[in-house]
Amino acid sequence: MRKPASLLTSKDANGSIGERIDTWVRPGIRALSAYHVPDAGDYIKLDAMENPHSWPKGMVRGWLETLRTAPLNRYPDPQAAALAARLRQAMAVPASAGVLLGNGSDEIIQMIALALGGEGRVLLVPEPSFVMYRMLACATGMDYVGVPLREDFSLDREAMLVAIARHRPAVVFLAYPNNPTGNLFRGEDITALIAATPGVVVVDEAYHAFAGESFMPQVLDHANLLVMRTVSKMGLAGLRLGLLAGPADWVREFDKVRLPYNINVLTQHSAEFALRHGDVLDAQTQQICADRRALFTALSAMRGLTVYPSRANFILIRTPRGQATAIFDGLKRLGILIKNMHGAGGPLADCLRVTVGTARENTAFLSALKTVLSVHTD
Ligand SMILES: *Cc1c(COP(=O)(O)O)cnc(C)c1O
Repeated sequence: MRKPASLLTSKDANGSIGERIDTWVRPGIRALSAYHVPDAGDYIKLDAMENPHSWPKGMVRGWLETLRTAPLNRYPDPQAAALAARLRQAMAVPASAGVLLGNGSDEIIQMIALALGGEGRVLLVPEPSFVMYRMLACATGMDYVGVPLREDFSLDREAMLVAIARHRPAVVFLAYPNNPTGNLFRGEDITALIAATPGVVVVDEAYHAFAGESFMPQVLDHANLLVMRTVSKMGLAGLRLGLLAGPADWVREFDKVRLPYNINVLTQHSAEFALRHGDVLDAQTQQICADRRALFTALSAMRGLTVYPSRANFILIRTPRGQATAIFDGLKRLGILIKNMHGAGGPLADCLRVTVGTARENTAFLSALKTVLSVHTD
C-alpha cells in the first residue's frame, strides 16, 4: 500500500525519513552502494563465473527424487553434519581441522569480519581483488587497507610486508587464484605473509577446481591460516554454500557469529547429492579448463588486446585505451554479457573480464568481439 505523501515528507519532532536516515544509518553504510547484479535478460551470460553446463537427465531425476523426502517443515540440521562430512572428503580437509559452512563463502567473509571487526581493526587485501572483502569490511565497521599488486598482478611481497607491519591487520584475505585477475600468487610469498600477519590469513580458494594448487594440506601448519572454498564455481552457484577450514579453535570462534540454520534443507540435500556425483562436476571442470585454453589462444591472436593468463574459469582482457566501455556495450548489443572492469579504475582501467562458457558460447563471444573490435580499433 502506498503511504500518503504527507507521511513521507512531513516532519515530526524526530525528523523526516531522510533526516532519520542521516541520523541513524552508520556513515560507512550510507557511503556504500548495494552490490549491483545486472539483469541477465536473454544474454549469453559470461559475467559471473558460473559453470555453464547442466546435468545429465538421469542425474536430474535422481536429484528430484532426493528432494522428495526433504523435510521442509523442519528446521535444517544446524551443523549440516552429513553435508560437512561429504565436503571434508571432497575437499581433502585434514581430519583434525575444524570446518564451518556458510551461505556462500560471502557469508563466511562476513562472519570473519563480524568476529574480528571493531574500532580500529584492519582488514587488509592486495588490490585489485574480490570486491566483497571491501564491502564487508565497511559493512562491519572494519578499517579497510588495500595494497596494490605489481603491474603483472603478482603479489608485491615487500609492500605487503610493510603494510602488515604498519597496520597489524586482524585479517588478510588472499584470493588464490585472484579475482578479477585470474592469476595464482606465488606460494612462497603467501607463506611469508602468513608468518608476518599478527591476525589470521584467509586463503580464498573459490577457483580451486580450475587451479589445482591449494593451501588446504598446510592448513594446520600455521597458527593463523584458514582456507576458504565454495561450491559456486564448481557448478552449484544457485545453492549458496561455502566452507572454511582451519585450526579447530579458530573455527569455533567464527562459528559463534553464524546464524543457527544458515544452510537450508534444500541446499543440504542438493549439495550432498551433487557431491555424490562429483565425477560429473569434475568432468565439467576439465571441460571448462580445456575451453579456457582455447579461448585464451583465440583472444591472444586478436590485435590490440592484452590477455592475462588465467588459472580460474574467467579471463581478464586489457582493451585498447579508452575503449573498454564501448566494446562492452557493443558486445551487449550483440547479445553477450561480460563484466566491464573499467569503472574500477587504476590497473583495471580498460579491462574486461569474460567467464569461460560452453564452447558454443565462447565461439559466439569471440565472433561478436571480432565484429566489435573491427568497428572500434580501426
Ligand atoms: C565468487 C567468489 C566468491 C564468492 O563465492 P560464493 O560462495 O558464491 O559466495 C568468493 N571469493 C572469490 C574470490 C570469488 O571470486
